Amino acid sequence: MNRAANGTIKIGVSACLTGQEVRYDGGHKLDPLVSGLLAERFDLVPVCPEVEIGMGTPRETIQLTGDPVRPALVATQTGRDWTAEMNEWSRDRSLALAGDEVCGFVFKKNSPSCGLVAVPVIQDDGLPLLVGRGLFAAAFARTHPLTPLEDESRLAEPRIRDHFLERVYAYDRLVRAFAGSWENEAIVEFHRREKMLLMSHSPKRCVELDRLIEGIADFRPSAFREQYRTAYMETMAVRPTVRGHLETLGTIADHLSGRLTPDQQRHLIELLEDFRAERISLKAPAELLAQYVELHAVSEVSDQVYLDPHWLAG
Ligand code: SF4
Repeated sequence: MNRAANGTIKIGVSACLTGQEVRYDGGHKLDPLVSGLLAERFDLVPVCPEVEIGMGTPRETIQLTGDPVRPALVATQTGRDWTAEMNEWSRDRSLALAGDEVCGFVFKKNSPSCGLVAVPVIQDDGLPLLVGRGLFAAAFARTHPLTPLEDESRLAEPRIRDHFLERVYAYDRLVRAFAGSWENEAIVEFHRREKMLLMSHSPKRCVELDRLIEGIADFRPSAFREQYRTAYMETMAVRPTVRGHLETLGTIADHLSGRLTPDQQRHLIELLEDFRAERISLKAPAELLAQYVELHAVSEVSDQVYLDPHWLAG
């Protein structure tokens, strides 16, 4: 199940970021975003590959070496090679986390086990190539190709943070839509409610998803599920731009054409202008449009997920 017993969405996280004292030196790397916003919103599933594999704490440091595509994981002092054990454990642990259906994973940067991008891979001359991926992070990404992943250091940037949060909630909705013995009609409905959100990420990919939905009856259920889930998450992975949002907000506003009072119209235009100039977040114009849509009973767009951007942190 992708939700905890209390209904909270689960996400995985490198254990040291939650404050657990699992680092090589017995310390932690408590991250304020992880212990604050993410812990408030999600059920955190902490994983420390190095402790869980039995390296102990404190322990000798380890590093990636050799081939950047298939690096070895070796201890820096004794030279002990942990590659085979870590690869095997990482594959098994990632498969076990599939049973949990975590809807995202936040990894500790630079770690030879957990780092997601640009992890140093030490070469024969002793110099690092910043092109590696920690062995556990690599195994998790292979086993969970659609799950949103982020490096803790990148989440400090508000747009990257909001995009990650948005994808986590989207993945949770997607998992629930296809849970159990789903019906075609329910998926068509799901897609209809997601449409404006998908448009804000990529109108072109949204049209491709529309075509997929139109042909749903021609697919075997398992093939459709695979294709739709992949195309949906690939669309959500495109980071939305201000222009993309303005076009989507404009499409929704078109449904209100002729129904707004001059004051309502003026207020909407002001908020759209503030949003265009990046003085406010999407929340204000989306919520105002949601109010107008409800007030004027515009049923065509009233249940669009886009009109309730609960994923935004600010
Ligand atoms: S980075 Fe990963 S392996 Fe290292 S202490 Fe944190 S959770 Fe453990």
